[in-house]
Amino acid sequence: MSLKLYNTLTRTKEAFEPIDPAHVRMYVCGPTVYDFAHIGNARPVIVFDVLFRLLRHIYGADHVTYVRNITDVDDKINARAMRDFPGVPPVEAIRTLTETTYGQFQADVAALGCLEPSETPRATEHVETMVALIERLIARGYAYEAEGHALFHVPAMPAYGALARRSLDDMIAGARVDVAPYKRDPMDFVLWKPSSADEPGWPSPWGRGRPGWHIECSAMSLATLIEPFGGGFACDDPLKNTFDIHGGGIDLVFPHHENEIAQTCCALGTPQMARVWMHNGFLQVEGEKMSKSLGNFVTIHELLADWPGEVLRFNMLKTHYRQPIDWTVRGMEESWRVLDDWYAATADAGPGTVAPTVVEALSDDLNTPKAVAELHGLRSDPAALAGALRLLGFLADTPAEWAARRPAASVDAAAVERLIQARLAARKARNFAEGDRIRDELAAMGVSLKDGKDSATGEPVTTWEVKR
Ligand code: AMP
Ligand code: ZN
Repeated sequence: MSLKLYNTLTRTKEAFEPIDPAHVRMYVCGPTVYDFAHIGNARPVIVFDVLFRLLRHIYGADHVTYVRNITDVDDKINARAMRDFPGVPPVEAIRTLTETTYGQFQADVAALGCLEPSETPRATEHVETMVALIERLIARGYAYEAEGHALFHVPAMPAYGALARRSLDDMIAGARVDVAPYKRDPMDFVLWKPSSADEPGWPSPWGRGRPGWHIECSAMSLATLIEPFGGGFACDDPLKNTFDIHGGGIDLVFPHHENEIAQTCCALGTPQMARVWMHNGFLQVEGEKMSKSLGNFVTIHELLADWPGEVLRFNMLKTHYRQPIDWTVRGMEESWRVLDDWYAATADAGPGTVAPTVVEALSDDLNTPKAVAELHGLRSDPAALAGALRLLGFLADTPAEWAARRPAASVDAAAVERLIQARLAARKARNFAEGDRIRDELAAMGVSLKDGKDSATGEPVTTWEVKR
């Protein structure tokens, strides 16, 4: 059974063949950790986790290296670190901030059933490799220094644009090119930029500064997937300077991935940075693009307060990774019901066996909707259902743990009303500690409160609902 993957580079589904038949190398652009990640960010994490699991199943767990980087230097990170840690040296401040935010990210994606990648390099730990890459690009005539910046000169690379396949005008619009006076060409992009004293900065031949976003991924993939496997600056075998799979969300095709390709290919003299480029489609919420102003911006962390991580994971995988997803409460409720049924059906199944039909569906460009249909078909075969669910990253709970995730189906409404009245009385008597205690007691019963005022009398009223 052969693995086929859709390659954005060729716009076709291709049979996958690793460069080294005994070792698959995959790089996925990771999060920019300035705050809690949203549910859209969870999509590439879950999708490429399924691919990681499938590759491990096919090639063996020790024969796959999956790298997902941490972007821990970025203007949003710098701004928040300056706000949260005034007076702390900037490099230390971003480190302190991103240890927390990356910890939150790790906890979120672990709850979503994702394995830890083989390596999770931090951008700030690879600045020397970035500087070396840029020096090499300058030496080879692909980049230049101007006013404390280093820039990649796009016209120096005739193959530029091969991934995005866009016209020059489109690319200029898409890159939101700022026409800086020091640029030789409007398409030229930043490899290195100067930092002010209160911004994080590292020494470089072009002065104290910080890397551009694109060079970070070229450096981290070089350090983790190329150099340890015999490639690098001293190697002139193009195949050794290429790895197998590069992934990320569809929004990264241009300019981020196009620029990664330009940097790596020109610095290492290889026609390809990665053989296969994979991109997940976008997620929107209840029919609309997620945005803070629309109030439909949901973090993974918030969702995990109300929904088991496996429900979110399953809800993600019902849609093929290249299709857009409309993320809805209805979809999550439906996903929870299906998992309830499968947890019950596999309660006594043990580790199970992996059904070839499920592997076959996944091997067809990660056709997870097809795999889910196969799972439904395995409903009466507990061992096969359990094996396939585990392959996909489910069944981390025992049946009892799973059942306990559902709040009690019904609460005693009269008892809730009595407690609410007691709380209102306590608050009226300005005994807020008692009021809070009662609210916590109700929360433990799965009841959440909403305080308001009666529109006619102005008296405080409290409504309640059972949280999931
Ligand atoms: P960022 O932290 O913004 O660099 O994004 C991290 C990853 O999440 C990238 O691979 C993005 O392409 C992906 N991503 C961001 N928003 C969405 C979305 N709404 N749907 C799917 N993927 C997304
Ligand atoms: Zn990247």
